[in-house]
Order: sequence, then C-alpha cells, then structure tokens
Amino acid sequence: MTYDAVVVGSGPNGLAAAIRLAQAELSVLVLEANPQIGGGTRTVELTEPGFLHDVCSAVMPFAEHSAAFRAMPLREHGLEWLYSDSEVAHPLDGGDARFIYHDIAQTAEGLGKDNGAYSSLFGQLVRDADDIFKYAMGPMLHLPQHPLKLARFGLVALKSADRFAARYNDPASQALFAGVAAHAVQPFSRPTSASVGLAMMVAAHAYRWPVPKGGAANVTSSMARYLASLGGVIETDRRIRKASDLPAARLKLLSSTPTALASIFDLPEPRWTYGPGAFKVDWALEGPIPWTNTEVGRASTVHVGGSYEEIAAAEAAVHQGRHPEKPYVLVTQPTNIDASRAPSGKHVAWGYCHVPNDSEVDMVDRIESQLERFAPGFRDQIIARHVKPPGWYADYNDNYVGGDIGAGAFTPRQMFGRPRLSPNPYATTIEGVFLCGASTAPGAGVHGMAGWNAAAAALRSIGERSDA
Ligand SMILES: Cc1cc2nc3c(=O)[nH]c(=O)nc-3n(C[C@H](O)[C@H](O)[C@H](O)COP(=O)(O)OP(=O)(O)OC[C@H]3O[C@@H](n4cnc5c(N)ncnc54)[C@H](O)[C@@H]3O)c2cc1C
Repeated sequence: MTYDAVVVGSGPNGLAAAIRLAQAELSVLVLEANPQIGGGTRTVELTEPGFLHDVCSAVMPFAEHSAAFRAMPLREHGLEWLYSDSEVAHPLDGGDARFIYHDIAQTAEGLGKDNGAYSSLFGQLVRDADDIFKYAMGPMLHLPQHPLKLARFGLVALKSADRFAARYNDPASQALFAGVAAHAVQPFSRPTSASVGLAMMVAAHAYRWPVPKGGAANVTSSMARYLASLGGVIETDRRIRKASDLPAARLKLLSSTPTALASIFDLPEPRWTYGPGAFKVDWALEGPIPWTNTEVGRASTVHVGGSYEEIAAAEAAVHQGRHPEKPYVLVTQPTNIDASRAPSGKHVAWGYCHVPNDSEVDMVDRIESQLERFAPGFRDQIIARHVKPPGWYADYNDNYVGGDIGAGAFTPRQMFGRPRLSPNPYATTIEGVFLCGASTAPGAGVHGMAGWNAAAAALRSIGERSDA
C-alpha cells in the first residue's frame, strides 16, 4: 500500500505529527528503528521483575499546556496523569529544603524575604501563561498575538541564570532556581540560560508537572492507540539509514536531527552542535529514598546539588569538558504517587547528571554520594541498579548523539533557530520532506509540539487545512 505520509520515529513528536496528519484524513505510516515504540517515553523492567523504570522521561512539565495533547482524547485511550504534593523539592545541607508547589503563595511563603519578589513576578507570568506558551511552543520567528505579555516574559527569560538569580536575596531561593535552570544544560553565565528554568517554573504554577500513571510509556502507547483508531499504521524495527529506505509518499516527516537528515539525504553537513551528555542510573529500591527532610519525599522531581554556587560550578565544569566531583543530579521518584510501578512497599527512582558529550567516565559513585549527602542511608536501600552512560543513549536513539538527550544543544543560536531561524523551521531543502523532532522548535521535552507544528507545515505545503 502507498501512504500519503510517512513519519520516521515513534516518540511523542513523531506520533503527534502522525496523529495530526491522520486527523486531516491522510493515510499515515510511522516507521520506528527500535523493536518498541516510544523513543524518549519508554517504561521497562530494567532491573528486577515488577520494577517499572522510565528509560528516559518521567515527569512532564510541558504536557499540560500542549496544544497537541489537548487536541487528542488520550484519556479515552488509557492515559492518566498523576500529581505529587509539590512539583519540585530542593534539599539543602542540614535538613533544610525549598519547594516549588503548584500554588505560588505556598511556594513564596517558603522563600522568606524573597516572598514578595517571587509572588509578584510569578503572579504576573502565570496570568500571562496561556499566551506565553502559545508563542513559545512554536517557531521563535513569528509575530506574537500578545507582544506586551511576551515582552514581559522575554525581558526576564533572556537573562543569564546568574543575572536572574541575583534578584533573590536568600541563598536558598537562589539554589531553588539553580536546580530548575540546570535543566537547560547551559552555563549559568550565558545569556538566555534563565529561559528554560523560568518557563518550567511558570508551567509548574500555571499547569503543574504531571507524571503519567504506570510510566512514561503510557503517553506514547495512548497516542499509538489513538493513531490506530484514526487508521494510522506503525511498523517497528524499521531504521531509516538512507533516502531509498523510505517508502514512496507525498509527505515525509523525520523525527531526526539535522545531521541525521544530512546523512540520510546526502546533504551538506549542517551547522548543528550537540551539548553535554547524560549519565543516568535507575534504581530498584527497598523503600522510599530516606531524605533527611521528609517533605522532599513528597515531590516527584528532586534537584540534588546543594547551593546555587555548587550547581553553577558543576554545570560550568561540564561545559569545560570536566567531570564535577559533586555533580548536579536530577532525580525523579514516581513511586511516591504511583505504587503500581514496583512490588508492594518497594520503589523505583532515577537520577542523572550532565557529563561532557560522549564521556566514558563512570559517575555512579559521585551521583550516589550526592544522594547520600541529603538522604543518608540511600545506598542501603538499593536492591539493583541499571547504569546508562552517554554511549548507551547514543546507541538507544539516533537523536541522542554523544548522549545529548536534547537532540542538539540549547544554545542561544539553537534556541532561536531550531534548527534554523525561520517562520517554518520544519521545512527542509527537499520538497515534501520535513523535520519533526526535538531538534526543531520548541525543542526537547514531552509535549509533541514539534511534531504537531511540523505536521501543520506539511499540510499547508499541500494546500490542506489543519484546524485542530
Ligand atoms: C534520560 C532522559 C531523561 C529525560 N527526562 C525528561 C523528563 O523527565 N521530562 C521531559 O519532558 N522530557 C525528558 N526527556 C526528554 C524527552 O524524552 C525528549 O525530548 C522527547 O522524548 C523528544 O521526543 P521526540 O519524539 O522528538 O524524540 P524521541 O522521543 O527521542 O523519539 C525519536 C524516535 O525516533 C526514532 N528514530 C530516530 N531516527 C530514526 C531513524 N533514522 N529511523 C527510524 N527511527 C528513528 C528513535 O528510535 C526514537 O524512537 C528526557 C530524555 C532523556 C533521554
């Protein structure tokens, strides 16, 4: 059979693209290199039977406001979101901790003398949130519908993390921001390095950071079921290495990086850089992580790294090609709200730190020492671990080059031009061929918006409307 459209990749973006094309009544075939679908949203018994680990993503700060997810009846196809008491916990030495709650006032209360500054900034940004995200979840080069609201956000977001943090007086408030800012995998001195952290905090207050019940895989399995209901077809074990591997179709959308696109279609090498890699450990645990501050156990995401200065230094070291002794560790602990993920009373958690691209240095001891610092006795809880250095991720997914889980660094150039500065960054130089993955606007994260936007661009190219 010949399809109207072929989509390469079955991560959230590939499936969002396929769904939008199928909603427009095109026949769609999705091709996936791996034996299973999901890409960055897979849940697997990596350690012991009954322990369901998220291979990549676990908590989804960009899902609730995603226009793509809102246009899909995923609940009807099995997706259920769960919410923890606080979106983020940030343990500090001596048993202290700071938290980001959905509620701004509750968050600000914990920030002492920074209460007023925090409440007034986030109060305004949350009021503007729908319009900010409507703009930011697409290509940067387009006219905003609400320029004033966007300018208000941009004035803060374009700052470096260092400059943004300086607005707070209390070192603990600064540390809280450092933990979120480090998601951007940028040095804190670099302009725009505040943007990702700021957007994630606005998302926490305006919408929440949900966790899919049963694990990340349920995001893409519910998408796949919905796609099937629209007549879409998925084939696994189908790696596309060259253009002739692609079946004939009017539209071809690839959830690939610009460098992979160049290799597949024999194009000139693009200007595209990859960022640091991730070194991740998945743990099967005897019990919950024994945080000194027990309230930390009620957050789904924990930022482990201590003070602002320590986290800034750790991230700077990685960008200088070094491996920090005390890395910043991003931890998720989904079993605190989802007991279905482990045998009775047991838990799963993961933690990863940033390392230089393609690093082969073993970071397990440094990661676990950071957890021991804020949760003494953590190591005693470990039943089994599964270790994934950058090379593991590069083998797992063609887009995670050198272990860069963002499919391309989020530098200022690659933030505005993802993968190029254009109102239609999804189109390529080849007619009918589009990029639709995390290397395109708006970038990494589980939201499906890159695929959703790319499908709209593809439909426009053939004169079809996409109203969803
Ligand atoms: C360790 C880790 C932790 C993360 N944590 C979070 C988190 O907690 N929250 C969050 O929002 N995001 C997180 N992310 C990021 C998120 O998972 C990704 O940004 C997101 O999955 C990107 O979606 P995508 O559809 O563009 O690509 P992917 O999900 O990466 O899927 C791409 C798919 O395309 C396939 N593919 C690629 N090239 C080819 C080819 N040539 N032929 C056939 N198939 C191909 C791949 O096999 C893969 O299945 C994390 C990522 C990692 C790796």
